[in-house]
Amino acid sequence: MKLDGRIAIITGAGSGMGRAMAQEFVANGATVVAVDVRTDPVAETVKLLDDGRSVAQTADVSSRADVERVVTEAVERFGRVDILCNNAGVLDDYTPAHETTDELWNRVIGVNINGPFLFSRAALTPMLEQGKGVIINTASISSFVAGGGGAAYTSSKHAVLGLTKQLAFDYGKRGVRVNAICPGAIHTGMTGHLMTADGRNPHVDAAIAATPAGRWGKPEEIAHMALFLASDEADFIHGAAFTVDGGWLLP
Ligand code: ADP
Repeated sequence: MKLDGRIAIITGAGSGMGRAMAQEFVANGATVVAVDVRTDPVAETVKLLDDGRSVAQTADVSSRADVERVVTEAVERFGRVDILCNNAGVLDDYTPAHETTDELWNRVIGVNINGPFLFSRAALTPMLEQGKGVIINTASISSFVAGGGGAAYTSSKHAVLGLTKQLAFDYGKRGVRVNAICPGAIHTGMTGHLMTADGRNPHVDAAIAATPAGRWGKPEEIAHMALFLASDEADFIHGAAFTVDGGWLLP
């Protein structure tokens, strides 16, 4: 199996893309440290994994203390960290800058970019000691263009690509590969709450209809890309950003 024996930390594993990644990784031989700020959903993920090894961790990715505890406990329990998926994220509900409060800005920046920085910094210690590691950041089509989010979300997701590139540049020669996945509109808890009762999302429905795929993406479709990037088959891929967006960015 592609990830036999690997230890993977996946953030935002309580639902959506993070849960799908956890399932895909365990199905391919990995053991997962499933991290989420919400305790019950992440416990449910580990229950679904049902592999007798993976563990749930309640942690806020924007908290340095939480992040360092998760990495320390992963190393204590499993002896290593092979893969880190910085996937936890929050949306800003398409709020334009003039309506963005300090609280909203700080929360979105805290989770979406401080989180990946804090977790990468912490996980790099065991990865550099091992001389091998993989970091996969969940970026977004909002890493390239405006319109898929508001000011805070789009800024944070642009920053995720900057972090991806710099980490890839600094650590590739020391065995750590860093890449980003840029999902388009994926049907998850994050987007689900913006749906109307009849299943429409006025912010993105027209844009989705105009894409070649013409539909929402599924979390598993992001997990497939994460599996590939985590595997040794992606050994030549450093600092890249893969859009998995049904063709959203084509026009
Ligand atoms: P998506 O899969 O599109 O990212 P979801 O909302 O389904 O959307 O998943 C995001 C996950 O990230 C949720 O389970 C959410 O609880 C988690 N999350 C949000 N903020 C944090 C945080 N500060 N720390 C850890 N996990 C978080």
